[in-house]
Amino acid sequence: MHLLLCEDHDLIASGIVAGLGAQGAVVDRVDTARAAEALLKVARFDAMILDLGLPDEDGLKLLKRLRQQGQALPVLVLTARDAITDRVAGLEAGADDYLLKPFDLRELNARLHTLLRRMAGRAQNRIEHGALCHDPSSRETWLGGEPVDLSRREQALLHALLQNKGRVLSAEQLKDCVYGFGDEVESNALNVHIHHLRRKLGNNIVETVRGLGYRLGPAGSDQRERA
Ligand code: CA
Repeated sequence: MHLLLCEDHDLIASGIVAGLGAQGAVVDRVDTARAAEALLKVARFDAMILDLGLPDEDGLKLLKRLRQQGQALPVLVLTARDAITDRVAGLEAGADDYLLKPFDLRELNARLHTLLRRMAGRAQNRIEHGALCHDPSSRETWLGGEPVDLSRREQALLHALLQNKGRVLSAEQLKDCVYGFGDEVESNALNVHIHHLRRKLGNNIVETVRGLGYRLGPAGSDQRERA
């Protein structure tokens, strides 16, 4: 899960980055509406966490403008404002969910997963794919009913492929899902993660589409080495 966090309060922001990071999410943080808008133009995110009280612009104004521009990214609004009218205004501006400050990080994490699940039209947390089963909220993966140990980056890569079943993703798109915007990425890092996924989940799990990128293939369909 690659998240954009737009929050100007340093302490709250670092708590969210650390807390959601520990849950396996990649979080890019900005502290102004302008920076959020700029980053949305160059990177792909699964969802945005948006504080309403930003130094350069009201978060609701930013949200309204993004929606007018056709930005469909799921947005969870953080606010200290409790008034019903503010909540209604947030939903009207295009927020998908609302969380009142102060909040518990576990609740934020659970709400984000529910939001993404709803967006993906799934009723359950677990994603099934042939013999493969993946639970993005608990970050557990099973192949043929047996647990498979995946690193954080491998989880993110698998999740991106599962969410885009049948679609080809370019190397750049996959890197966006696996790494934060500011992360130093070695040129062959993606290949290394793909190699590991194939070793753990079967050679065909990641199909190479020559010249275009990669796509999800069948799970565990070759003689996988078992530890
Ligand atoms: Ca604020």
